[in-house]
Amino acid sequence: MKRRRLLKALGGGALLASTAACAPTPRADNTYRRPYSRKPFAAPRVSMDDVIRVVVGHRPYRPAGFVVKSEQMDAKTVVHNYGHGGGGLSLGWGSSALAVRETLGMTPGDVAVIGSGIMGLTSARLLQDAGWNVTIYARDPARHTTSNIAAGEWGPFSVHDPSVATEAFVSQLNWAARISHHAYTNLTGPDYGIRWLEWYTLSDAPFDSEFTGSDEAAKLYAYKGVLGPGEHPFPVRYVQHFVTMQIDPGVLLRRLVRDVQLAGGSFIVRNFDSVDEVLSLQETVIFNCTGLGSRKLFGDEQLTAAKGQLVLLPPDPAVDYMTLGGGRGMLYMFPRSDVLLLGGTFKPGDFSTHVEIDETERIVAEHERLYLNFG
Ligand SMILES: Cc1cc2nc3c(=O)[nH]c(=O)nc-3n(C[C@H](O)[C@H](O)[C@H](O)COP(=O)(O)OP(=O)(O)OC[C@H]3O[C@@H](n4cnc5c(N)ncnc54)[C@H](O)[C@@H]3O)c2cc1C
Repeated sequence: MKRRRLLKALGGGALLASTAACAPTPRADNTYRRPYSRKPFAAPRVSMDDVIRVVVGHRPYRPAGFVVKSEQMDAKTVVHNYGHGGGGLSLGWGSSALAVRETLGMTPGDVAVIGSGIMGLTSARLLQDAGWNVTIYARDPARHTTSNIAAGEWGPFSVHDPSVATEAFVSQLNWAARISHHAYTNLTGPDYGIRWLEWYTLSDAPFDSEFTGSDEAAKLYAYKGVLGPGEHPFPVRYVQHFVTMQIDPGVLLRRLVRDVQLAGGSFIVRNFDSVDEVLSLQETVIFNCTGLGSRKLFGDEQLTAAKGQLVLLPPDPAVDYMTLGGGRGMLYMFPRSDVLLLGGTFKPGDFSTHVEIDETERIVAEHERLYLNFG
């Protein structure tokens, strides 16, 4: 997989040239051979009139990459696990496994986990499996976290800036991606809101190469390939396809909250304004899974918000693939069980929380155009 292309796309750079200009007209009989699904392509129903909601979220983006490390603070051990940018949902189990590794050699006892997003919940579950007694402290319950806003593709992208991050970080990222992928494949099915779907990256320019090289995540994809003009129904010349998991964050988080409770964990609603407040907790081992909250709480100024906007429409069960690209700006479509999700934007350094109407209109109009002549 050309990681740079996908990173750029998910990172919000100007994505892919003009569409439709020289793409062949889609076949009327819709008889395209698909790599995985046996069904004909169905076009998603997209219109401004049917928009249910537009949501804004802030990816906890750290150009040098996420932080997993432990430090001694007074008499406490604080284990950090934050800053996963646009790939935190995907990396949850793997990054938390790295974090829990920091407790090797300790005798399991009471542990505090701060945060009930994907990092807090997966850290909690892994700690419980290792014999720890977990209390989760969080300002917001899982359903009000950034994790619940995530679009839901399994793909650890837009996590770091390759021109800034070290090789050591990249190998940590790759390790976390492999572990997390493995863990999610054990959870596929409706219980955890995870299913396998085709993914199409759309482009008018040929893809430079097949899925080779050092991209670890790409090695985890199945049914990889490239289709040229006339071999697919999208109004661009080329598509790169693979099969990955799609995660419905709401279903996953609800289930993980329940799993934590079933394993004896408890939740306490609490905001922490300072490190001193954190260190005043009774537990001597504390996991910091506060996402973007770590910027203020632990003074990490490298951590910034990458604003993202998503447009939600009623679910369309007939659509069984995801797309990325095919328009002027960042563009993606995920057919989740709860909504048909259209994205999006990626704006590093933008902490504003308002919906941008022009972005909503762009996202909807560009998707409408993508499927105008679909078979
Ligand atoms: C628009 C958008 C699309 C995305 N799409 C994807 C995708 O398709 N795939 C993917 O893998 N990732 C995606 N992501 C990224 C993903 O959502 C994040 O990387 C991930 O949710 C971060 O999880 P977290 O647990 O670290 O943080 P959060 O989910 O933000 O949870 C942080 C927790 O810490 C608590 N907290 C924070 N500060 C304090 C404090 N001071 N005191 C007490 N509690 C505190 C909060 O209340 C919350 O419970 C997307 C993100 C956005 C915004």
